[in-house]
Amino acid sequence: MRLAGKTAIVTGAASGIGFATAALFVAEGARVIAADLGMPELEGTTGVAADAGDEAAVKGLIKRAQKDFGGVDIFFANAGISGGLASIFEQSVEDWEQILRVNLIGPFLAIKHAGPVMKERGGGSIICTASVAGIRAGAGGPAYSASKAGVINLVKVAATQLCDSNIRVNAICPGLIETGMTKAIYDMARDSGKESLLGNLNPLKRGGEPDEIAHAALFLASDDSSYVNGHALVVDGGLSIS
Ligand code: NAD
Repeated sequence: MRLAGKTAIVTGAASGIGFATAALFVAEGARVIAADLGMPELEGTTGVAADAGDEAAVKGLIKRAQKDFGGVDIFFANAGISGGLASIFEQSVEDWEQILRVNLIGPFLAIKHAGPVMKERGGGSIICTASVAGIRAGAGGPAYSASKAGVINLVKVAATQLCDSNIRVNAICPGLIETGMTKAIYDMARDSGKESLLGNLNPLKRGGEPDEIAHAALFLASDDSSYVNGHALVVDGGLSIS
């Protein structure tokens, strides 16, 4: 039980990576607040409907953790939207604002408001979901890729500013994972009989499972990663090096 006695907040917990991670955190002994736009139904968690890009909603999640469990030790800022693969010329300012609000301002709000509460508790771990799209071109649309690159540098800055409070801040960069976000890509590949092409994108020659990202989040949430700080952990089967 690597998270026994810990309280965790997971955003984007109704589906995919967030769902798998919230379930794994529960299995590892954590009390988990599972948040999404609609209230997630996940056994063993406290489900809360909250917009991860809204400041009042993020503050509300942390207050709920304080009220129900006395504080928060782990914040997995994972909620995200892709916005598709449209080119720069097709994307509007409104598209950019919406993607940045959820994908980049969301993690900023998690760090800003969980930080002081974790400090009171003597420390904590904040994990933000970035993406391989934040490292290399071609893995996401312009706003999505820019938002995820922003997350990678945000955790570095935050790590330097929160380290005195014994709070570690890290990112995970998933490759191609089969979730609600990538369902259309997988469906299209399956319908055309070209599913194997998706796997061929990386040296391991397969897409990833949400559980494989959940285990990376568990590593960063737990004391197993006690000396890992300001890091962007790539979990992509080698996509980013191929
Ligand atoms: P998903 O669509 O299955 O899950 C994302 C969840 O976030 C959904 O339940 C959605 O309702 C929720 N969400 C969206 N906007 C929200 C908001 N404003 N407030 C609260 N919840 C919100 O997709 P996923 O693949 O599990 O995505 C999780 C994270 O992983 C995202 O940040 C995504 O960018 C990132 N990611 C995914 C992949 C992939 O291949 N699936 C690759 C790299 C990074």
